[in-house]
Amino acid sequence: MRILLTGGAGFIGSHVADLYIKEGHEVLIIDNLSSGRVENINKNAEFEEVDIRDYDALLKVFNRFKPDIVNHHAAQISVVYSMQNPNLDIDINIKGTLNLLELSRVFKIKKFIFASTGGALYGEPIYLPADETHPILPLAPYGIDKEASEHYIRIYANTYKFDFVILRYANVYGPRQDPFGEAGVVAIFTKRMLEGKECFIFGNGEQKRDFVFVQDVAQANLLALNYAPKNGILPVFNIGTGRLTSVNTLFGTLCKLTGYEKEPVYKPKREGEVFEISLSYEKAKKHLGWQPTYTLGKGLLETVNWFKQKGG
Ligand code: NAD
Repeated sequence: MRILLTGGAGFIGSHVADLYIKEGHEVLIIDNLSSGRVENINKNAEFEEVDIRDYDALLKVFNRFKPDIVNHHAAQISVVYSMQNPNLDIDINIKGTLNLLELSRVFKIKKFIFASTGGALYGEPIYLPADETHPILPLAPYGIDKEASEHYIRIYANTYKFDFVILRYANVYGPRQDPFGEAGVVAIFTKRMLEGKECFIFGNGEQKRDFVFVQDVAQANLLALNYAPKNGILPVFNIGTGRLTSVNTLFGTLCKLTGYEKEPVYKPKREGEVFEISLSYEKAKKHLGWQPTYTLGKGLLETVNWFKQKGG
């Protein structure tokens, strides 16, 4: 299939591109390299340095490539940025998505796959693990972007008759994650530990997250390609492990894997972040045929080894 993949120079998108290409698909990557890196781009993918806010530039790419599938991973991923610059944030995360949907309509694509979030969508959960019917009460504009995008995708897909699959990720971690951002605690700790630097924990460290390995997330994107719509089933799937791990426990495990011996430095808690979240993957297991295969221990070991090879 011909797959137009946005954000394919980034952390998750680059793993999705690798797997699609390994499976024999033709992939064209669109990325403005704002946080993505050229070295992440699969050598067998086509690449266009385009901003998803630029409709005319996107039009040229769609016209030339004529994709069957659009897989949309490009986004402004900072929760803090979304609180401080809500207007610019909307331009990228909502209007950018709309540009792609408009072109999906014009070029009659077959399916739209979207990287949404579970961790930032459900808000402080009423029950755990949160399933897809959990109320949506985001704590920051970033979550509103994803919710709004999900609605636009559903409406466009139903109106203009293409399929869609929405994947709501938990906290994704693994090789190539940016260790300099505000999110991506595994990458941040790993890099700082290997360099012998201080590690900061915001709050008391007992906040708990659901960590899912990037290879498992890529696999969900592969299954999404072949997912056939089922009557009465909204194709929206949590992609998480259902397990809770505290930041303190994560810190301890990474200390062992990296040989780091310093104590963490505790800082005030950050606004806009939930205290505890884990995602039920029962729906994905039943209808998408997906379940996590990596334990946290195995995934963290692969991540640490990758950062070691990269030179810290
Ligand atoms: P990332 O920053 O590594 O990847 C995002 C990519 O989008 C980057 O390559 C960046 O250069 C590109 N990009 C940003 N703005 C763009 C624009 N205006 N035009 C074109 N390209 C642009 O982040 P990631 O962690 O790989 O996230 C990928 C997707 O998964 C995002 O949509 C994110 O919201 C979603 N997601 C990630 C997680 C996680 O834990 N990392 C969790 C839930 C959802």
